[in-house]
Amino acid sequence: MKSLLIIIDGLGDELIPALDYKSPFEYALHKNMDKLAANGIRGDISICEKDFAPESLKCILRLLGVHPRDFPTNRAYLELLAQHRDITEQEMVLRCNLVSVDREGKLLSFNGEGLTLKQMKEVALLIAQGSKNIECVHLSGYRNLLITDKNSEFMEKMAVKPPHESVGENIEGLLFNLKNNSLVLKDFLIQAREKMRKLEKNGVHYELYPWGASVRTVMPAFSQIHCGMLGATICSAEIVKGIADSLKMERPKLIGATGETDTDLQEKATVTLQMLQTHDFVMTHFNGSDEAAHRKNYTEKADFIARIDKEFLAEVLTNITVTTRVFICGDHGTSSLTGKHLVTPVPFIAGTVAGFESIRPIKTYQDIWGFLYERGNK
Ligand SMILES: [Zn+2]
Repeated sequence: MKSLLIIIDGLGDELIPALDYKSPFEYALHKNMDKLAANGIRGDISICEKDFAPESLKCILRLLGVHPRDFPTNRAYLELLAQHRDITEQEMVLRCNLVSVDREGKLLSFNGEGLTLKQMKEVALLIAQGSKNIECVHLSGYRNLLITDKNSEFMEKMAVKPPHESVGENIEGLLFNLKNNSLVLKDFLIQAREKMRKLEKNGVHYELYPWGASVRTVMPAFSQIHCGMLGATICSAEIVKGIADSLKMERPKLIGATGETDTDLQEKATVTLQMLQTHDFVMTHFNGSDEAAHRKNYTEKADFIARIDKEFLAEVLTNITVTTRVFICGDHGTSSLTGKHLVTPVPFIAGTVAGFESIRPIKTYQDIWGFLYERGNK
């Protein structure tokens, strides 16, 4: 018996008037998911319950069976691990978005809207040069990390609101505490803004937005949590790569994966099937659905869900030869109307491929663990 967990990031959503009052998932055609559900079960479930805010890091760790006491404070440290980098106990690492701001200081976008990927990379490399006390690591697009000395007092005081939840607010107010508690960061941000001056256009300028500080965290290995089960993860989003690396799960290199809706679904299907041959458990993660919802593009989200069904799931389900439990779900919801994460339950489908068994009801995240990790007849 093997297990496959398919996470469609931010799958839950609101009912969209323009989609006949359906969610993007309900609106999308997904006959392969329906086929799996016909011999299995489907429903809605809350992964974060009331324990924590709906966000990928904690929801995915929970799906993987990690105890909350082992959760890292924030995602930045895991994203750094995914770059094959580490920090010491004396350092901290922060997420750092490239954001656009208007003349009045209002945050216009959390993602460097108006710039190309190339421009964002070039400017991040320029900012990284010549900075003494802060190291800037470019991830992709608008995403960067900053490494600097840890200051515990400062970490408590500097909780900055995530930029994707702050669009429309004044950036000075949003970063006031952070700048007030760290001269080093304040100077760094002033210099960064200066280096981005040439990108200014039609009253829109660009700034860096550090948030989500995290420190070095060691989590138990996936095989240690699940009695020696061998696990692999197929993903492209930095945070999920970091989760896989931190839990010492195999993470095969993908060529066409983008972490977006244009990701190579065929490649993900091929590699998922390969990993299922050699591992007890495989997690395949799709990030584009969450990104589309953050952009409030419900049609793009629905189309991506339909493509996952047609180009990925059809291929995987028809080529699995060993009895495999398949669980498809969102980690959390993301509203395509507001662009924000949702606390409401997310859709799931559970079924068995290449074999039949009756599935116990799935009402809580512990039931998901039972389905994926308890092995009566391995
Ligand atoms: Zn998100």
